[in-house]
Amino acid sequence: MSLGFQFPKRKWGWRPQAKKTAETEATGPRTRSGAVRASAAVLKRRLDRIFSEYIRLRDSDGAGICRCITCGRSFLWNAGDAGHFVSRDKLAIRFDERNVNAQCSFCNRYRSGEQYAHGLAIDRKHGKGTADLLMQLGSMRGTKLTPIWFSVKLEEYRAKLKKLKAKKKL
Ligand SMILES: [Zn+2]
Repeated sequence: MSLGFQFPKRKWGWRPQAKKTAETEATGPRTRSGAVRASAAVLKRRLDRIFSEYIRLRDSDGAGICRCITCGRSFLWNAGDAGHFVSRDKLAIRFDERNVNAQCSFCNRYRSGEQYAHGLAIDRKHGKGTADLLMQLGSMRGTKLTPIWFSVKLEEYRAKLKKLKAKKKL
């Protein structure tokens, strides 16, 4: 028996979102040589990780101990954070070394990064006016970073990290 009514064919609807995993990476677009070309999002995640590691090692002493930029608490380089003064949402300075410093997880995650104290510390470290400059750079709109840019930065920071680890024997 026909009900005389049919639901229209769905042209749209819920589809499971592709999971952002290594699997997605492996099936992404390829370069001419056949290597997988990673998307900007994937490269950004990789650079975030390497850059954070680099900053914490840069700010550690010979024994790998960092002092939190905002409260002075000591922590082992791989047990704390690389805290951003201006939010990392601001792409123009997300990877600016002046904007990111070793910070204890408490200040970074539970005290909103202690932005005021962080700014003062940046001025002491890099000269008066640096925090203001970073705020201005951070307010620039329309920054778009390309996969090529991320690839170049990744190479640069991998090399810097390797050199730093060798120098600090960590
Ligand atoms: Zn702290």
